[in-house]
Amino acid sequence: MTDYRRLRVALLGAGSVGSQVAGLLRQHADELADRAGARLELVGIAVRDVDAPRDVELPRELLTTDAETLIVGADIVIELMGGIEPARTHLLHAINSGADIVTANKALLASHGPEIFDAADQVGAEVYYEAAAAGAIPIIRPLRDSLAGDRVQRIMGIVNGTTNYILDHMDTEGAEFSDVLADAQRLGYAEADPTADVEGYDAAQKAAILASLAFHTAVPLDAVHREGITSIDKSTMDAARHAGYVIKLLAVCERLTGPEGESISVRVYPALIDRAHPLASVHGANNAVFVQAEAAGNLMFYGAGAGGVQTASAVLGDVVSAARRHIAGGVGVGESTLANLPVVPVGRVTTRYHITLEVDDRPGVLATVAGILSEGRVSIATVEQTVIGDGEAGSGVARLVIGTHKALEQDLSETVDRLAASGVVERVVSVLRVEGD
Ligand code: NAP
Repeated sequence: MTDYRRLRVALLGAGSVGSQVAGLLRQHADELADRAGARLELVGIAVRDVDAPRDVELPRELLTTDAETLIVGADIVIELMGGIEPARTHLLHAINSGADIVTANKALLASHGPEIFDAADQVGAEVYYEAAAAGAIPIIRPLRDSLAGDRVQRIMGIVNGTTNYILDHMDTEGAEFSDVLADAQRLGYAEADPTADVEGYDAAQKAAILASLAFHTAVPLDAVHREGITSIDKSTMDAARHAGYVIKLLAVCERLTGPEGESISVRVYPALIDRAHPLASVHGANNAVFVQAEAAGNLMFYGAGAGGVQTASAVLGDVVSAARRHIAGGVGVGESTLANLPVVPVGRVTTRYHITLEVDDRPGVLATVAGILSEGRVSIATVEQTVIGDGEAGSGVARLVIGTHKALEQDLSETVDRLAASGVVERVVSVLRVEGD
């Protein structure tokens, strides 16, 4: 057995991911030593309750509630506690104690990324976070390293497994949102409190991380436009299917070019995707990130966006990288925010839309609707009308599904407000963007 140098590894957290990381570090110790060029010695695991049951059996003597002491003297600190505090304080302490750090904590990086990266820069430490954006799917390293010589134009990610599971089942089974959510909770795909997932908060954190990296710009979480999927009902889903689309919750990070130069847009919302698009075939709780780069063209990264052991794979990859760098020394890659592009509000984004309206079924209504759209600089590409009243013109309600050409979001939303107030529109059923053109 090669006599490798020993690196002290401290693990903070032994929950779904942490317990698997600890298990794999111990189980594959020899192989990992060969790959890293160093023996990764797990010196301790900080938890809240040393007596709590664990997914993986761990030696009792490794468990401690004293994270601060554990960090001192560690070469690599792996943070898998989650949340903002005390994770933030522990990571800053680890960096200032000379450790490289590995974390899967998207909430922390999306809200305090610049603080962590600056602290690491100051002391020449490195921050690895492959598991923070899409679980097991390698996307951070491709953006940071493989595409470092290219210019990313757009990222479209299905980065939340819970919402993809719900939307996929609504699409394939014709079920209602609330029924699929209840099933997802029973099967463990959704939390008892699903807000972070279904309202798009989790996806927004990941979008901020991906956009920051792809566009060399610190993207604050509050600059990410966010909408969830709770307004998507069976009839919206049916209409999307009928028109040849599927609805996905997308994290879209896009480089925009205008008269004032370059800017970026970062947004999370449910959008229509053509069924022929590769993202349309991402089923169940899987994730995928579709990257469009100037020279490389279209790339897609697909797989498990969550899961204890799957996420542990990405964490261990980071641990091996951290170990190699720790041994080789030298300056790390660091986070580049050199481009520092402005992040524009969603109103400045241009996309195609599908507007579904319930209108009075009487002569002249279509002309009124078309007039309002035209005045609002929204050009119609397709119109489909279905009578949903008693079938006699003038005595019922008709459903209008209007597909638009590309329009400015601000124009579109003002136009929809005017339609809603026009007196001929009974109800604006849905307004969905079309992505992936
Ligand atoms: P988890 O199951 O809730 O585990 C959290 C662990 O941290 C537990 O072992 C807990 O100790 C410990 N902990 C929490 N607060 C602590 C404190 N104040 N002091 C000491 N220990 C503390 O979380 P997880 O699902 O493994 O997620 C860990 C991180 O990975 C999060 O940032 C999450 O966003 C990220 N992530 C998770 C997944 C996934 O599929 N689960 C995927 C991608 C990224 P006790 O066990 O004693 O309570």
